[in-house]
Amino acid sequence: MNILPESLRLRMVVSHMAAISLTVAAVGVTLLVLGVSGTSLVVAVAATAAVGALGSVGASFLMVRSIAGPVHNVAEGARRLARGDLDHRVRSSSMRETRELNDAFNEMAVTLRDLVHGLDSERSLLAVVMETMADGVIVLDSDNRIRLINRAAQWLLDADIHSARGSTLAEIVRDHELLELASGSAAAGRIQRAEIELLHQRRFLHAIATPISAGPSRGVLLTLQDVTRLRQVQNTRREFVSNVSHELRTPLASVNAMVETLDGGAIYDTEVARDFLSRIHDDIGRMTTMVDELLELSSLESGQMPIHLAPVELSRVANKVTERFETNAASRGVKLLSLVPDDLPYLMADAGKLDQILTNLVENALKFTPQGGCVSLSARTVEAGIEIQVADTGVGVPREHLPHIFERFYKVDRSRRNVGTGLGLAITRRLVQAHGGNIKVSSVEGEGSVFTFNLSRAS
Ligand code: ADP
Repeated sequence: MNILPESLRLRMVVSHMAAISLTVAAVGVTLLVLGVSGTSLVVAVAATAAVGALGSVGASFLMVRSIAGPVHNVAEGARRLARGDLDHRVRSSSMRETRELNDAFNEMAVTLRDLVHGLDSERSLLAVVMETMADGVIVLDSDNRIRLINRAAQWLLDADIHSARGSTLAEIVRDHELLELASGSAAAGRIQRAEIELLHQRRFLHAIATPISAGPSRGVLLTLQDVTRLRQVQNTRREFVSNVSHELRTPLASVNAMVETLDGGAIYDTEVARDFLSRIHDDIGRMTTMVDELLELSSLESGQMPIHLAPVELSRVANKVTERFETNAASRGVKLLSLVPDDLPYLMADAGKLDQILTNLVENALKFTPQGGCVSLSARTVEAGIEIQVADTGVGVPREHLPHIFERFYKVDRSRRNVGTGLGLAITRRLVQAHGGNIKVSSVEGEGSVFTFNLSRAS
């Protein structure tokens, strides 16, 4: 196979012809100068020309061979580069012209390799960023097919990792708002945003659709941000404000009504006036308690309430609490027992806060246990530390309410307006959590409840 380009070969033939002609002319001139003529001159010229031509063709042949080898190497090298062998280099040649060619090829190969490696590492970095970012990213082509989808988007949309790529958006998303956002942005050619609630996944997403174009191809870039937590916080705050307003409005309205009645003349009826004043006093007391508990809960939730952990003997704290409620229990006809063993290991706790936890639980237990019932306080050593229980044989908590009773303002029987603020258990749970523990409840309606929490041992 002749791999020299046509123009190069032509140039070489022309230069060989010129060399032959020059040789012939030179021999002719020499013979003329020497005075040789006739047939012998023709023969001599022809012989000389033949010898010159043969020499010239031989030289050309050698030259072609010395060029063809390196050029062939370069061509083979180019093929290997094309196949991805970016470290391939051609051997340097001894001829100046082909050496330049080889060197240029090798320089190009180095540049190409660096370029490809640079692109590779940029692409890997981009892939890592896409896969680890918390926001979902989807790139759709003009047919609404998914060209690219990252892990976060698959997770947010509950999409199957294998089938998502290549599917249409409608095949993996049921939410019409999100579909409309993508198609609307493509049609309008501008960025569109929406807050979307995915009912199946129970998630709120902030979605942004941006039209994109790469050369002639068009598409949409969809970014999805999970705002579920933010929404929950907003909802909780809204509920909280509405709960506080509600809880305060009721006693305030009652106080207002009583003051108006007193003002309207009831103040002159000593008995009625005394009764009203006592009720006003109770309502104000309830509101004060609520405000105090709210402040306490708020400082617990913001982590601002200091907890001073130290070794604590549970039986001493438990006895103190039961003693405090002795009269209360007796007046209700409820038996109150402290069954905490004296030899229980010390626990790591803030004694004051532990007292508050037990007080809240015992107070509730007494409140919801009818006459003849029993409230007991017990503890035992478990693998995770010390498990403490406050059990009662009271009214119990209906099953559907159980998951909510540690929520702020939650009361099973809302009509029992005078019985507590609904903040006690929320505070109790926060206090237990501040010790690094957990609290749970088990209850059977009509049979009683058991509140169990655990704290760490001191050693
Ligand atoms: P409250 O100040 O109203 O007692 P809590 O947060 O302490 O508020 O309790 C929330 C609700 O949980 C109570 O209103 C009551 O319905 C229920 N509850 C709490 N402890 C008990 C218990 N030992 N037995 C039955 N119900 C209980």
